[in-house]
Amino acid sequence: MSTSDIEEFSEIKCLTCTWDDTSDCEKCEVQGKLDCKWNRSLLLRFYKGAMPAMLFGGIGFIIVGLFVSLIPLLIYIVFWIFFFGFFEIRVLCSHCPYYAEDGRILHCLANHGTIKLWKYHPEPLNIFEKGGFLAGALFFVLFPIITEVYGISALLNQSNLANPYVILLIGLSVLSLISGINFFIVL
Ligand code: SF4
Repeated sequence: MSTSDIEEFSEIKCLTCTWDDTSDCEKCEVQGKLDCKWNRSLLLRFYKGAMPAMLFGGIGFIIVGLFVSLIPLLIYIVFWIFFFGFFEIRVLCSHCPYYAEDGRILHCLANHGTIKLWKYHPEPLNIFEKGGFLAGALFFVLFPIITEVYGISALLNQSNLANPYVILLIGLSVLSLISGINFFIVL
């Protein structure tokens, strides 16, 4: 590491107290108002918020995959790898104080365990990054619901409303919508 690299790194560390063990949280004016220190219960809160949406969406993808088409599931798997593995950690996470920790693995309150492919960006998100993240987050929540509605329509064309999988998909689409809204609130 060159001298200029060390100076730049020191400046970045001074910008955030998230990973500074010597920070005096007791005297901090935002203590309790900001989730700025790693905490297992805060990570679990995120998982609890995310799990219902993923569970209902996942069941919907399986039913549509079994009885209609596997294409929506394949699209979602490709999106998932691209969005969470590469895109989101660049446009959002690389700006987050949790990202400033030393090492290649991200420890934070949501994407815990992700590999840090990008360098830390202490500056705020620009408008393209905000738009890109919002578009990806909306796709993440809405695509399972769109898939379930597509499955209902396709199954109705093959049979009728008495088909148990149609009824199941109707229930799942409602649950996916409610849990997706709840997930956004947790975020
Ligand atoms: S998911 Fe990204 S933005 Fe959210 S806490 Fe983790 S590093 Fe920060």
